[in-house]
Amino acid sequence: MFLFKNLFSKPLSVQLTVTSHNGFHLRPVAQFASLAKSFSCQLTATFNNKSVDTKSVNTLLSLSLEKGDTFTLVAQGKKADEALEALQRLFETLMQNDKEIKQREKAVYSYEGSVIEGEIISEGIAIAPTYTYRTTEVQHQSEMDFSTALSKSIEELETLYRNKEEDENAAIYLAQKELLLSLGTDCHTLRELEEKVEEGSKNLIGTKLDAKKSDYQDILQRVKKHLGLEIQVTFPDSPFILLCEDLLPSEIDHLQQTNVTGVVLKETSIHSHTAILLRASGISSLIADTQNLSEGESVILDTHAGVIVQDPSANDLQKAKEHRGKDHVQKVRAAEKRFEPAITQKGRPIKVFANAADPNTAKTAKEEGAEGIGLLRSEFLFKDVKPSLETQQKAYKEIFELFDDITVRTLDVGGDKSLPYIEIPAEENPFLGVRGVRLFQTHPELLEEQLHAIFLAAGDKPIKIMFPMISSVEEFTQTKSFAQNVARKYQLDISHLQFGIMIEVPSVLFLLESFNDVVDFYSIGTNDLTQYLFAIERTHPLLKADELSPALFSAIETILHTATKPVSICGELAANKDAIPQLLNLGMETLSVSPKSIAQTKEEIRDV
Ligand code: PEP
Ligand code: MG
Repeated sequence: MFLFKNLFSKPLSVQLTVTSHNGFHLRPVAQFASLAKSFSCQLTATFNNKSVDTKSVNTLLSLSLEKGDTFTLVAQGKKADEALEALQRLFETLMQNDKEIKQREKAVYSYEGSVIEGEIISEGIAIAPTYTYRTTEVQHQSEMDFSTALSKSIEELETLYRNKEEDENAAIYLAQKELLLSLGTDCHTLRELEEKVEEGSKNLIGTKLDAKKSDYQDILQRVKKHLGLEIQVTFPDSPFILLCEDLLPSEIDHLQQTNVTGVVLKETSIHSHTAILLRASGISSLIADTQNLSEGESVILDTHAGVIVQDPSANDLQKAKEHRGKDHVQKVRAAEKRFEPAITQKGRPIKVFANAADPNTAKTAKEEGAEGIGLLRSEFLFKDVKPSLETQQKAYKEIFELFDDITVRTLDVGGDKSLPYIEIPAEENPFLGVRGVRLFQTHPELLEEQLHAIFLAAGDKPIKIMFPMISSVEEFTQTKSFAQNVARKYQLDISHLQFGIMIEVPSVLFLLESFNDVVDFYSIGTNDLTQYLFAIERTHPLLKADELSPALFSAIETILHTATKPVSICGELAANKDAIPQLLNLGMETLSVSPKSIAQTKEEIRDV
């Protein structure tokens, strides 16, 4: 009976549009397939008359979905509606969070030696002899059979992913795990896996996903390693610039332990996982054709200008050394001075706070020199399962112990951010719908528990509590009264806590005088304020608001002139070096930026 119902239940479908500039590539595809597998219903994706199973990374990738492409996701069977909704939510979040990798602008150069031009992966200057990458394969005796080697490799990738979960590049390991799962499923021998890998990577040739071929080779190598195949790579004992066709993502960790000063790859793209990891490692790297370079030749690799200089003259070398010295001094200076206050040329101290997402990023923020937390995005606690009061209290306490000045934002979901266990009815325009505090109209219990946990964790500390997506004074006063009632219910004194709002909705600009009477502070969320000012969704596939538009600065100016309570800024604009001088000139005193931008933001401030 049950089976009958499932087999013949009507299929449900939804149209999903790829909005990320990078397309629907391996990392988001892996996360999507991983969630799809948790549902027992059939889930297929159809694009250009081709339908594939979404539970397999390899088949889903074969659709080669690029920005602007719309595919149909069809669910049929048990909990098809739930599956569709959860996948749609995840897809939107993945698209929203997938950062665009842009081609870097090249600095102008004037070298006397002959120059090979390339595409910049990661910026810096290296001066050293070249060394061509070479490997030797050694086959050891191995007792392990193919299926154990396969499961060991999957386990290893899972562990790598889990261990690096807070690292923004951790998804690369999840992607490789899912890829190996999808390719390895029906394989019984290494030969079969090799064939699948070959076929899978062949399908990527000529598509935007071409650069992900190295991931196919990487997973194959991992399985082979368990079967006794050792790849030996030796590197020089002195500094060298590595020339290579391509590297496997898993090789970058090892490379960092060597004397490498620069890397030139021939066959990759700025979007590949190898390139992403090279950027994260900070090694100067370029994509260029190096067939005219000979082994051991001393060259300059200038990846600010995107060039390799052959036969550099004495002048070239001096110039490059000076530039390298400046880079070094700048990095070291920024890092060394990260704990020092950021004071402008005119002697104005500016506070640099961090946007934290969990206890780990809060700890990193501390190590990076943050003076406080300007925005704690509390969504991290809520993303998989509903957190208990105790879990929340423990996490907040851990963070609250790190700094004296902390602003915690109450749960901010809806629009682009969803919760797997909360049903927000489908909306025509979710960014104009149930977002931020508006969710608590229907789910007050979520806010009650969160506030209770924050109050308990705060103890005597004057924590600041911030409400997102406030659009009217009443919304704020009602939410604050709700908080006071929660404190009364649990007999907690919260008179030392402050309550403020994110300024993200333009209506607030026209109500500031009334807000001044009720709030304790403001924080400008330029990510959302920009989308609402320009009526351009922040995830829109084709449209993009100008983040440096005078309209936005004029809005910020209005806020700073009208507000009588402290104002900070926590949107992306706060770390934009082209915006910092203007923000400071308008009177901004506190910038809250991502932990990795703290040292540099302080340096930018010192130059104003
Ligand atoms: C903002 O909107 O600028 C902001 C900081 O909040 P989020 O990016 O989390 O929406
Ligand atoms: Mg926002």
